[in-house]
Amino acid sequence: MTKFEPRGRKVKILATVGPASRDPDMLRRLFKAGVDAFRVNLSHGEHEGHAETITAIRALEKEFNRPIAVLCDLQGPKLRVGAFAGGQAIIPHGHKFTLDRDPAPGDGTRVCLPHKELFGLLEPGHRLLINDGKIRLRVTEATVDKIVCTAEVGGVISDRKGVNVPDAEVPIPALTDKDRRDLAFAIEQGADWIALSFVQRPDDLAEARKLMDGKAALCAKIEKPQAIRRLNEIIELADGVMVARGDLGVELNPEEVPPLQKKIVNATRLTGKPVIVATQMLESMIESPAPTRAEVSDVANAVYDGADAVMLSAETAAGQWPEEAVMMMDSIARQVERDDAYRQRVRLLDTQPDPTTADALAHACMTIADTVAINAITVFTSTGSSARRVARERPSVPLMVLTPNSAVARKMALLWGAHAVTIREIGSFEEMIAKGKRMALRHGFGGAGSKLVVMAGVPFGVSGATNLLHVVTLAGDELNNHAN
Ligand code: PGA
Ligand code: MN
Repeated sequence: MTKFEPRGRKVKILATVGPASRDPDMLRRLFKAGVDAFRVNLSHGEHEGHAETITAIRALEKEFNRPIAVLCDLQGPKLRVGAFAGGQAIIPHGHKFTLDRDPAPGDGTRVCLPHKELFGLLEPGHRLLINDGKIRLRVTEATVDKIVCTAEVGGVISDRKGVNVPDAEVPIPALTDKDRRDLAFAIEQGADWIALSFVQRPDDLAEARKLMDGKAALCAKIEKPQAIRRLNEIIELADGVMVARGDLGVELNPEEVPPLQKKIVNATRLTGKPVIVATQMLESMIESPAPTRAEVSDVANAVYDGADAVMLSAETAAGQWPEEAVMMMDSIARQVERDDAYRQRVRLLDTQPDPTTADALAHACMTIADTVAINAITVFTSTGSSARRVARERPSVPLMVLTPNSAVARKMALLWGAHAVTIREIGSFEEMIAKGKRMALRHGFGGAGSKLVVMAGVPFGVSGATNLLHVVTLAGDELNNHAN
C-alpha cells in the first residue's frame, strides 16, 4: 500500500474521464496530481469501456488506500436534430429553415427534429439554439408537423447536433430510456453519485431517486432556466448540485451565468450539500499547456466563493494536457487557500445553525477552533450528515471524517474540506477517543501535544444521535500503543 498524505486542500477536484484519461496509468497520474472524484460521462462511450474505467478507479482506491468518488453523469433529455445528406449542411444567415418530422436526410433548408414533444409546443418568437448556441433560429410559424424558423445566426450544421429550447418547458421526463439503462448500469457498477442532466422541476428528481433505491447520492445539474425558478425545491430534493455552466450559458445569455453561479453556490451551501462549479474552467488547456489569465481567475473565484468542488470536462476527457490541467487547478486552489483573506471570504455567507443538536455542536467546533489552537476537527459519522454540518461552517482547520461506511467515505470526496477515512465499527466511548487520536497521528493531523476536537454520537452507529464534543490532547505515542 502506498502512503498517501492528506491533500491539505479544502476545495475538491472532479475530473471527467474520456479518451485522453481512461488509461489506468493516466488515471493514476491524475489522482496523484489532485483529482478527488472522477466523472464518467454517460453521454459518450459504451458501458464496457465505462466499466473498465470504474474498475481502474477502484484499483487506485486500493493502491492509495483513499476513498475516491465515481460520479456517473446521465445524458438526460438532450434534444438533437436528425442527420443530413452528406453529414452536414450550411444554413445561410437570414434564411428560412424548417424542422419537421420527416426522417429523410436534411439539407440547408430543412432537417428532421426527432422529438414529437416539441411540435405544437414551440410558438412563434421562441428560439432554437443549435450546436451550443452557435446557430440561432427564431420560430416564425409552428404547426403539429413543422416548425418554420428564420436563421438569425446561420452556419454549418451537422448530424445530430444538440438543440436547446430555452423559451419552453419541455414535457419530457428527466430520464430517457437510455438514462434508465445507464442508471441501472451505474448502480450495478457501484457509482457513488448519479448526476441528472437538464432537471426542469422538482418532480424530475423523484423518479431517479426511486430507481436508485438509496444506493447512490443524487446530484442535480442546474442547466435550464426553468430549474432556476424552483431552485430551492430542487436543492432540497437533491444530495448535491452542479452549476452546469455549459448548457446554462446556452439557454441564458452568458452574462446571466455569473450571478446565477453565485446564487446557486450560496443556496446550496446553506443546506450543507456539496456544490460543484463546472464547465470551461480551464477550457484553453484542451489544446494549450497553459491556461488564460481569465480562466485562472474563474477557478480562483469559485474557490473564494466556497464551492465544494471545481470540475474539469474536456480538459481531462479529451484534451492534450489532462495532467497539466489538474496540476494547474490544484495550484490555483492552493494559492487561494493560502490567502489570509480567503478564510474570511469563504465565511461571508451567513450559515446560521439550524435548531438541532448537530448544528449546535458543529457551530461549537468552530468556536473552539477559533479560540484555542486546534489541529483538526474529527467527526465520527455513520451517514455523513454531521460531517456535512461541520463542513458547512467552512472551518479553517483540517476536517477528518471517520466512518465505518465506505460508501459514505467515498461520497465525501466531493465535500469541502473533508478528509474521509473508513474505519471499523466503534464499540465504546474509550475506543472512539483512542481511534480518533490514532487516526489523527497516522494521517498527519498532529503530534505530541496537539489538540483535536472530536464530534460524535453515543450510542454509536445510530444516525441522528450526534450529541458529544470532546477536546483531546495527543500524547504522540498512540501509534505505538496500538497495532491498528
Ligand atoms: P455536460 O454538463 O458537460 O454534460 O453538458 C455540464 C454543462 O452543461 O455545463
Ligand atoms: Mn450540460
